[in-house]
Amino acid sequence: MNATPPAIYDLAVIGGGINGAGIARDAAGRGLSVLLVEKDDLASHTSSWSTKLIHGGLRYLEHYEFRLVAESLSEREVLLSIAPHIIEPLQFVLPHEPHLRPAWMIRCGLFLYDHIGGRKTLPSSFSVDLGTSRWGAGLKDSFRKGFVYSDARVDDARLVVLNAISARDLGAEVRVRTRLAAARREGDLWRATLVDAAGRRQDVLARVLVNAAGPWVKDLLDEISPDSIRAAVRHVKGSHIVVPRVHAEPHAYILQNSDQRIVFVIPFEQNFSLIGTTDVPVADYETPRISNDEIDYLCSIANAYLARGIAAADIVWTYSGVRPLYDDGSDDLSAVTRDYVLKLDAADHRAPLLSIFGGKITTYRKLAEHALIQLRPFFPQMRAAWTDAQPLPGGDLPPGGLAAYERALVVRYAELPASLLAALARRHGSRAPRVLADARVPADLGVHFGHTLYAAEVDYLVAQEWAIEADDVLWRRTKCGLHMSVDERSAVAAYLRKLRARGGSA
Ligand SMILES: Cc1cc2nc3c(=O)[nH]c(=O)nc-3n(C[C@H](O)[C@H](O)[C@H](O)COP(=O)(O)OP(=O)(O)OC[C@H]3O[C@@H](n4cnc5c(N)ncnc54)[C@H](O)[C@@H]3O)c2cc1C
Repeated sequence: MNATPPAIYDLAVIGGGINGAGIARDAAGRGLSVLLVEKDDLASHTSSWSTKLIHGGLRYLEHYEFRLVAESLSEREVLLSIAPHIIEPLQFVLPHEPHLRPAWMIRCGLFLYDHIGGRKTLPSSFSVDLGTSRWGAGLKDSFRKGFVYSDARVDDARLVVLNAISARDLGAEVRVRTRLAAARREGDLWRATLVDAAGRRQDVLARVLVNAAGPWVKDLLDEISPDSIRAAVRHVKGSHIVVPRVHAEPHAYILQNSDQRIVFVIPFEQNFSLIGTTDVPVADYETPRISNDEIDYLCSIANAYLARGIAAADIVWTYSGVRPLYDDGSDDLSAVTRDYVLKLDAADHRAPLLSIFGGKITTYRKLAEHALIQLRPFFPQMRAAWTDAQPLPGGDLPPGGLAAYERALVVRYAELPASLLAALARRHGSRAPRVLADARVPADLGVHFGHTLYAAEVDYLVAQEWAIEADDVLWRRTKCGLHMSVDERSAVAAYLRKLRARGGSA
């Protein structure tokens, strides 16, 4: 961590979602001095409300988005290798319905999907008989034929936090609950006015401003450099529902609807299934919430396929996020490009402003590399691209991967519950011992709040991962909130309040 902030940062990155955190990490690793500011918590907006897939996007092939699909497919392998604790392969079953698309067309699509992205470790696609195999688990008997293909899933919020930790480890300064309130050019520099949670204002200087404000990208642009870039954003809400697990097998389903949209049913947090998503244009992107229509839509698509129907009453959790899509003029919302667009405003030797439009979790690392290619003329001394081979924090697992690492933890911490060690390995990877320290028995970890959450981890998240409020811990740094009662969650909030009041560890 920087002891003394530089008088002038090379880069001030606005937005602690996946794109801002990814750019901050990449830039810091190339030797630039970086400040990352996030007005709320890291990943508290779009980047924790995704479907949590590292995927090529099978359906984007239908929209001829070959560049995006190829880049995303090759990123699956890269991200699996640098963050194997929070990203894992996932197989998808596509039940075949002849009235939607003929089998030959699906086979062609899957052949392309298998081959255009440099697939190395993930299994290739194949056809299955759903009636007689485990691949049809939970489906109605009428679905007989299907296809299986591979993608991966990710803990999206942790991916953001790990990028921010890595950026900090490389010298970047990360400030949460700090808003960019204003910015203006002063000669060839930016003067940015930051406001923290207590309302304190501070001006900082930076050579380049990166606008990675997600849904707010255009608002920020209009505020600090109106008319400099002609670009528009479409705000499209996507909602998910979480229900008790609909089948016991590890695979996910991709369900096709007659409106050409698709819905995923994904095993989630051991006991649950995650079902989503919708595509609804919205004007309010501050506080997206699922509507009754979206609940009906998701339940009715799931019920067209699942043997045991689901109803609104089964829902245990919902969440909604807003895609900040680059407006490419398409009429069909699900066809609007999911690709990213970078807009650089540096005309007439003005202090550069780089704005990020669109993108996917899957492509954040390549997006960051492309951002730095655009910025290279301003930092000719900058080092080369590096993030494709360097593990994210905790991702340097021993041979044998996560399973072997979990086994090693069980040996080392023989008196701690295996379920706790597995959860910590999945959250922190090789950094799990930093949470456990020299604990021998559960009591050494302090208060047990419920599920796999103990005071020792909460303290760690506060000290090392910028957690402040209960939601930061319960729904982003971990997903323990899903498994805990209201009283248990309140106890976490009370503990954090006490911590803050004492200004340190409880
Ligand atoms: C429903 C849904 C499902 C999706 N599923 C997938 C998927 O399965 N796979 C995939 O690859 N992609 C998926 N995506 C896309 C992906 O989630 C987004 O592309 C990505 O999260 C966008 O990240 P971001 O950093 O641009 O935005 P955000 O995560 O929203 O981050 C922007 C941040 O900027 C901050 N900010 C804004 N203004 C200021 C300011 N003035 N000062 C300081 N901070 C500020 C905000 O608080 C916010 O945290 C999905 C998106 C949605 C909505």
